[in-house]
Amino acid sequence: MTTQQWFNEQHDYSGSSIGFRVTQRLHTEQTPFQSIEIWDSTDWGKLMVIDGCMMVTTRDNFFYHEMMAHPALFTHPRARRVVVIGGGDCGTLREVLKHDEVESAVQVEIDERVTRLAEQYFPELCESNNDPRAQLLFIDGIKWMAECEPETLDIVIVDSTDPIGPAQGLFNEAFYHSCLKALRHGGILVQQSESPLAHLPLLKDIRKAMKGAGFQALRTLTFPQPCYPTGWWSATLARKGVDLSDFRERGAEMKQFATQYYNAEIHKAALASPEFLRDALGD
Ligand code: SAM
Repeated sequence: MTTQQWFNEQHDYSGSSIGFRVTQRLHTEQTPFQSIEIWDSTDWGKLMVIDGCMMVTTRDNFFYHEMMAHPALFTHPRARRVVVIGGGDCGTLREVLKHDEVESAVQVEIDERVTRLAEQYFPELCESNNDPRAQLLFIDGIKWMAECEPETLDIVIVDSTDPIGPAQGLFNEAFYHSCLKALRHGGILVQQSESPLAHLPLLKDIRKAMKGAGFQALRTLTFPQPCYPTGWWSATLARKGVDLSDFRERGAEMKQFATQYYNAEIHKAALASPEFLRDALGD
């Protein structure tokens, strides 16, 4: 009998862990920013792990990438200029570029190695990288956003690692204030806001910082994400000057591209808030 090998991500804060049966480690390296590992698995395809935390699996990344992109794009009436901060695996960028109305999509990733490894091990996520509307920059998203010309963006998607290391400054009021300044009226900020169950205090802090920065309308959408702690994740949307109660439902129903999770019904369902979250967030 052969011994099975498992990759386990232990979550001390929630007293739980998630494990994947792996066959071999395909790559490991320490970049100036973080450690990156790529694994092959028996059931989940390839895995990308940064600093011991699961980022992407071949099998289930579509939940996260679609929910980081499409709810905001089907809420904004016509998003022409979109920026993804982080997101080096390029999956969110690919979803953004499915929208014909997008004229320019810039991905600002601090660590070029994440993208180079994604190109090698997750080529399907990188299939739109050569779209003429796409621009890939490898610099710090905090600095880029602070220097961005005011009122030039329609959507900012913060597809970041957890708020430690280089991503720490992507979760505070100063950064959200830079985003607010860079967005045009009606523009939308999307922040991956972790597990509503395991990270509720952090989720509250994110929303407090967004409000403190001057965003009035906030909405936290929840969705399944099997490979992340607790298997349940969230994206928080914040809008400049306009509320977030509606979305382009007809546009979502008639969408001209394929998705695996997102559709108009899922969008409506994701806007519903469970009782404990309503109590905690006041949505
Ligand atoms: N969906 C993933 C998750 O929640 O596990 C995140 C995926 S994506 C790989 C996160 C990316 O954010 C990483 O590649 C990391 O290098 C990037 N990142 C972290 N801090 C950053 C910063 N200050 N500026 C730009 N990118 C940053």
